Amino acid sequence: MIDSASLRVSRQMGLPGWTARHQKRLEQSRVFLAGVGGVGGVVAQYLAMAGVREMILVHEGSLELPDLNRQTLMEISGLGKSRVFQAAARIGLQVPECRMTAIDARVSPELAPLIGMADLVIDARTNFEERFLLNRLAARALKPLIFSAMHGMEGIVAYLRPGTGVCLECVFPEGDPQWDPLGFSVLGAISGAVGSLAAILALRFLSGYDWKEEERMTAFEGMDLSTRSFPLTRNKGCRFCRGVGGIKKELDEKEESG
Ligand SMILES: [Zn+2]
Repeated sequence: MIDSASLRVSRQMGLPGWTARHQKRLEQSRVFLAGVGGVGGVVAQYLAMAGVREMILVHEGSLELPDLNRQTLMEISGLGKSRVFQAAARIGLQVPECRMTAIDARVSPELAPLIGMADLVIDARTNFEERFLLNRLAARALKPLIFSAMHGMEGIVAYLRPGTGVCLECVFPEGDPQWDPLGFSVLGAISGAVGSLAAILALRFLSGYDWKEEERMTAFEGMDLSTRSFPLTRNKGCRFCRGVGGIKKELDEKEESG
């Protein structure tokens, strides 16, 4: 007899070349996802629905009305309440077999043990302070990192290998001052498109389905619905890659003192 979890994914099992092995790999995966807003919420939902059985969700803050043009896991009754707990509860209703740990907090060095347990780290935060810290924690744990971001009518996703290959600081040495976390313009459908692109990337990495191990970035332009995809190379001048040892020491000291 086919159980309900297997029946749920029966349509993706029909994809050309998608085998039981791909599905099994997904179901044995554990993902650390920072951000469950407009982009990250979509990532979390599609990962759970595709069969990822374990997710650690990290996002600080409570739901406000302006979040509701894009954050598809949230409900009006949740205004003023923690977003990450709402996201986990909503996904739990859709995919009861997905085990989730929800943490209402910013990315911090204290989360290093959870990152160490994950197969993949996904960055769907909106500020470079948390993004850079996540990059450093992923580097220390030698975990691959999927970066996702949007601004206005544009979005980008990238597959990175901090610690061994291209890291986030190789690509954005100074962060991006345009991406002010408070009040940048957002069309919800663009968040959804970028979240879907990041989810596709994550599902192909986790399952191994047509996966090529290569750092790449894809830029999505909402005005003409085009995408551009290009390989990334390590930045020889990257502040972080040049001093991974130093950064590790800095994080260790932070942990010890905190
Ligand atoms: Zn780097």
